[in-house]
Amino acid sequence: MAVDLVSWLQEHRVINASGTMTDLGASSVPEDVARLVMESLRCFVDMHALQAMASSVIVRATGAEAGCVTGSAAGGVAVAVAGCMTGSDLGAIESLPDTSALSRRVIIQKGHVVNFGVPISQVIRLTGAEVLEIGSATDCRPYQLEHALDRETAAVVYVVSHHTVQSGLLPLGDVARIARQAGVPVIVDAASEYDLRSFIGLGADLAVYSAHKFLAGPTAGIVAGRKDLVRAAYLNQVRGIGRAMKVGKEGIVGAVAALERWLALDHGAQHEAEYRRVRELGEGMERIPGLRAVEVPDPTGNPITRVRVHLDGPNPGRAAAALAQALRTGSPPVAVRDHHVDLGYFELDPCNLLEGDVPVILERMAQSVREGVLKESPSPAPEPVVPGRLGPRRSTYTPDGLPCVDVGQVPWAGQGIPPGGREQALLDWPDAYLGGMGDGGESPGS
Ligand SMILES: *Cc1c(COP(=O)(O)O)cnc(C)c1O
Repeated sequence: MAVDLVSWLQEHRVINASGTMTDLGASSVPEDVARLVMESLRCFVDMHALQAMASSVIVRATGAEAGCVTGSAAGGVAVAVAGCMTGSDLGAIESLPDTSALSRRVIIQKGHVVNFGVPISQVIRLTGAEVLEIGSATDCRPYQLEHALDRETAAVVYVVSHHTVQSGLLPLGDVARIARQAGVPVIVDAASEYDLRSFIGLGADLAVYSAHKFLAGPTAGIVAGRKDLVRAAYLNQVRGIGRAMKVGKEGIVGAVAALERWLALDHGAQHEAEYRRVRELGEGMERIPGLRAVEVPDPTGNPITRVRVHLDGPNPGRAAAALAQALRTGSPPVAVRDHHVDLGYFELDPCNLLEGDVPVILERMAQSVREGVLKESPSPAPEPVVPGRLGPRRSTYTPDGLPCVDVGQVPWAGQGIPPGGREQALLDWPDAYLGGMGDGGESPGS
């Protein structure tokens, strides 16, 4: 029987309180952008001319010398790294990932080695480059970068993201200055950032953005920067390893349309509407026992305030994981920002909530709490013998009065969070996701 796609999509809609997540389809593309994408699908066009037009729009949006559209931001990082190794040498471009005749080392601070679905080091390495991590997880000093830069170095990759360590690392301005002295280009992975100008302004040679995150376009990436390096990246996309991750005309037109919309958007009005949802969520949560809502700013300076939902009780890590999982697998499914559930909280992001989502989220939370999701998080912690923690401490006292960690309260103390049900569902794909399709759509996953 033929699949009725419209019904399938309606039945499987996930309420997205997690932000811009590739796993959830990344963005809800606005009508005017979607219309232009549809227009592009019907016609033939010289793709290089289309990319040259895209370059002029990227230049206007970013202040860079040139730009091109890639299959995704991850694809953009890959072709940017490839371009920094090969330049415009078509022979070298065709030879990748063989880098035996090229400078192939790519430097990255250890605290920037993030995983946005895949480790960024894999995206760099698939070009044939070798990754050299410098510093330690939470610390990097100028001398460590100066020491690492040598004739083997093709590029420095600098990641701006909520995933990175947020303190103790080298700021972009310093990295750009030190790398420039050594004649080495700096590629900024700014996939998830709103600011389209600062990274180039601070000295990045190439900046990479996602077209399907805050820009709300269809899936694509944007590479902006020095003309020679953008050209080299582009050549790697059309004549080298980037062919396996190429972008089609619909992606290019979608990225351009999304950029034009972004340039004309009343951002202040949009952020006010988003903040109203944040307030509604926070106020609604005051009526749900066991939850504590706090407003938090985006860690990298994006114009987003989110609701952080703290779980109280003997084992907040388990409770946060259990509630996030219950929301994700119930009906309708609600995806929350669950990167830090082991610390006893998750966050709600207002950017991708649609009209009518807020009351549904609040009701699903209240319902999960009523059904006892939080009670099923037994504490492995010893009973505190001294009543009261003297504030929100994660430690207590032994019977003889010595300080001891309340092992239910700290993420490092073992058996905190049960293994992720969603990861298991992925390993069981497609079977785990096909359950319920015939009978009108149970939620996917376990
Ligand atoms: C999302 C993200 C990516 C990947 O972006 P895509 O466009 O989905 O490939 C890369 N880097 C960072 C920091 C991200 O947040």
